[in-house]
Amino acid sequence: MIRIQKTAWEKMVSHVEKTFPKEGCGLMIGSDGVVQEAVPLPNAYTGPQEDFFVIDPKDLHRVDRESRARGLDVVGVFHSHPDCDAYFSKRDLEHSCPWFSYVVLSIKNGRFDHANSYRPDFDQTEAPKEELTYG
Ligand SMILES: [Zn+2]
Repeated sequence: MIRIQKTAWEKMVSHVEKTFPKEGCGLMIGSDGVVQEAVPLPNAYTGPQEDFFVIDPKDLHRVDRESRARGLDVVGVFHSHPDCDAYFSKRDLEHSCPWFSYVVLSIKNGRFDHANSYRPDFDQTEAPKEELTYG
């Protein structure tokens, strides 16, 4: 289960509404399943960004280091599905890390529609939905 605090949630939504119609992404920082801060990051995918996202490993390591220095952890990754539902795609699963929560935000016509969170297993074969609260 994951709980996203209001300011972090608003930052996530506003970032992925801005990147629309491309996928937007970023990291979620906090502890014990509570997201206290969101860190929007550039989509580093070199193909069509309407369909996929990549977080630059350098960004991940930097944010991870900075968070730990403040006693916080990277608890997950968020990204958007422009004009698409908030499911966890096969490709999302193949690129996932099992110790992260993955929040997918569905953005339709440039506005937030709904969101789901997924927790991939260690074999990257499935990602069960987990309870998500925000705001
Ligand atoms: Zn996706």
